Amino acid sequence: MTPTRKPEAFIGGHALRPESLMGTYGYDPALSEGALKVPIFQTSTFVFKSAEEGKAFFELAYGLREAGPAEHMGLIYSRLNNPDLEVLEDRLSLWDDAEAAAVFESGMAAISTSLFALLSPGDVVLYSEPVYGGTDYFLKNVLARFQIQAVGFAAGCPVSEMEARLAAAGGAGRLRMIFLETPANPTNALVDIAACAELAKRTSRPERRTLVAVDNTFLGPLFQHPLQHGADLVLYSATKYIGGHSDVIAGVCLGSKALLAEVRAMRTFLGTMASPWTGWLLLRSLETLKLRMTCEMKNARYVADYLNDHAKVEKVHYLGLLTEADPAHAIYRRQCLAPGGMVSFQLTGGEAEAFRFLNGLRLFKLAVSLGGTESLAEHPASMTHSDIAIADRARMGITENMVRLSIGVEHPEDLIADLKQALDAV
Ligand SMILES: *Cc1c(COP(=O)(O)O)cnc(C)c1O
Repeated sequence: MTPTRKPEAFIGGHALRPESLMGTYGYDPALSEGALKVPIFQTSTFVFKSAEEGKAFFELAYGLREAGPAEHMGLIYSRLNNPDLEVLEDRLSLWDDAEAAAVFESGMAAISTSLFALLSPGDVVLYSEPVYGGTDYFLKNVLARFQIQAVGFAAGCPVSEMEARLAAAGGAGRLRMIFLETPANPTNALVDIAACAELAKRTSRPERRTLVAVDNTFLGPLFQHPLQHGADLVLYSATKYIGGHSDVIAGVCLGSKALLAEVRAMRTFLGTMASPWTGWLLLRSLETLKLRMTCEMKNARYVADYLNDHAKVEKVHYLGLLTEADPAHAIYRRQCLAPGGMVSFQLTGGEAEAFRFLNGLRLFKLAVSLGGTESLAEHPASMTHSDIAIADRARMGITENMVRLSIGVEHPEDLIADLKQALDAV
């Protein structure tokens, strides 16, 4: 897949990096009174220059004919598209080197719309565990009502075990999608994307390819690029790092033009597209994406090292602390560019000790969600992962003494001072 970048992404033969293009790419100020920034196009509908133009736009929108060489679809109605979303989709495509993107009003809207677009009754989805709670519920309970079967496997298990799980569930021959969340929330367990792409290739039939979809919320779009490792779709909760300020809910799906055409068509009919205001907020966020994520990653390194040396901490789950003896280390080296900003750890003790620690924090705020500029702490077993059966939770390593931290952009010594006094109080 070779994405076609617009001419402004190059200076001569030199291809500009995404961070150099986040303020300007895909936007022509001359079309908006010279405004430097993309205005908020708060409009439901767009005026056609002529009836003929309206007819031509609809022919392209509904796929009634192919676009001519210099022709591109105009604006019709904000459920189909809107300039804030078009510019945002162009800019998001740069980070993952994707041909196409679609933005949604939430991460769950991106996931549910994409899966509804590409799955049919009788299909099987193989998925890594643990996955985000909303995704878990959608896979197990919503898809089941449409005769789509979801079969889980433990993140980090060998491919042979995935195949055994599929066969045991009677799903061999019906596999349509492998859905991954890597690193997994909250344990930071890794799934080998390339190995899953290989399994997908082996189970594809000429008339029906097995697709690999990766929820890249934790490391992307800066520190992991699943399409380069053979994935077909990349999904995001843009509420997290892409939005980055804990003030907007949004989602993204990226992939080939052909797959995204199906996803966008489903988005049009479900009406799950992002609003212009959401699009504008994300455009603003993208300008500082690299700055924020780099700072959060550096801060997380300090925090993980501090916790790792603390007498009251049993184990730290942080990608930067993987040792070569760990089988995840090789996957990390192959598919991740940096360890990111999420740190989980187990305190000595149980829920009582974890709660005492959480209640003692002053700078870290006690809240779910992640990827914002402020540092957050939460207790997965009783909060984000509380609806997972206790036995399953234990199997996934989500224990009563585990705390999950999302590291923000504060001064690292201030974060450590806060952790120190909260641990002292335990
Ligand atoms: C938050 C999250 C989601 C859901 O996204 P929303 O924007 O809350 O709908 C999906 N996957 C992961 C990994 C998440 O962290």
